[in-house]
Amino acid sequence: MRRFLFVTTAARFVAAILGAFLLPVAAASGQVVERRVLIVAPDDDDERVMLAREAVAFWNRTLSDLDLDVRLREPDLVIAAPNSRAMENFARQVSQRGGRLPKGSAGPQPPSELTNLQADVVLLLSRQPLMPFAWALPSQPNQPSRSGSPEFFVAIRTREPERRSDDKVLRNVIAHELGHTLGLSHHRATATLMCGPCSSAAAVEAPQEWLPLTADDQSRLRELHLAQ
Ligand SMILES: [Zn+2]
Repeated sequence: MRRFLFVTTAARFVAAILGAFLLPVAAASGQVVERRVLIVAPDDDDERVMLAREAVAFWNRTLSDLDLDVRLREPDLVIAAPNSRAMENFARQVSQRGGRLPKGSAGPQPPSELTNLQADVVLLLSRQPLMPFAWALPSQPNQPSRSGSPEFFVAIRTREPERRSDDKVLRNVIAHELGHTLGLSHHRATATLMCGPCSSAAAVEAPQEWLPLTADDQSRLRELHLAQ
């Protein structure tokens, strides 16, 4: 343990620079960075809470198999207060933009009920049938070091139980969005986890529970999360 206390000034400097790019950085070889995930659910028996926990466990197995130095912490759960309307409104605005920022736009302003939460990733199990997304939040002007405010806002649509294997699709959707928070972007292979555009039929028909990562995804994760 002791060796972690002696981080050189140069290493601190590098860590400070990399920290500005919103991605976790291991300060020393072998030190695991935990990303705090907070699930916001309409109520505590929402079936998607289990799906989200399974998606987090999937990522932790994957990150461990790849021998990387980052994990998602077992998520805390908060039950959305009746006044969570501001967060739902913000989710709708981002979703309507297709989760993309038009050039030169600052995007909709996240509400304080979101930015005040203490987590790296806030995962809203929305009450709306919206298009799911993972949205990088701007750092707050009065919190240049972020000091615990969320870096990513993820919103997940309502379940569609009438659709075949919707829970399997939704579990992969949640894992996909968490993949963005780990730094992955889309590629065109539809039967993979980071597909974009995706076909939900691919998840339904996949023989395995989780859509696979590609070799490119794995190299990208190594690039981002392997301590030097
Ligand atoms: Zn995506």
